[in-house]
Amino acid sequence: MGSQLPGQAGATATPTPSDMLRGCGLRATSNRRYILDLLGERDVHLSSTEVQEALRRMGGRVDPATVYRSLEALAAVGLAHVVDGPGVRRYGAGAEPHHHAICCRCGRVQDLPLHDLAEVTRRIEELTGLRPDAGGSMLFHGLCASCAD
Ligand SMILES: [Zn+2]
Ligand SMILES: [Zn+2]
Repeated sequence: MGSQLPGQAGATATPTPSDMLRGCGLRATSNRRYILDLLGERDVHLSSTEVQEALRRMGGRVDPATVYRSLEALAAVGLAHVVDGPGVRRYGAGAEPHHHAICCRCGRVQDLPLHDLAEVTRRIEELTGLRPDAGGSMLFHGLCASCAD
């Protein structure tokens, strides 16, 4: 006791996927831990099929129904969020609430920080009286830079 292992300093700042799962009352299965890791990257939003492919590349045995249920369970407790884009449902797990810009052609989803669109949400309230949820997500459809070329 008392001596800190090298590399441990500062590691407490970010909760591990296991901590996050247990904090939400979910069992920290290896599938769920890996899915959280995968989706935690900025701008990463994957469909259930894409998550299955990633798990398979890791050498895991993948049951599509289990992956789908894991994703829905993570979304239900707020550890992941859903983007119902054109065609297919995608999941992300970025920590900060954000809006989304989705490409209708390639399906690429990008995060938009809330504060960058504060002007837009203010204007929505002016026009409609509706105050968009603080953590609420707006979805913008269009063509991304590579598809528009
Ligand atoms: Zn997102
Ligand atoms: Zn595109």
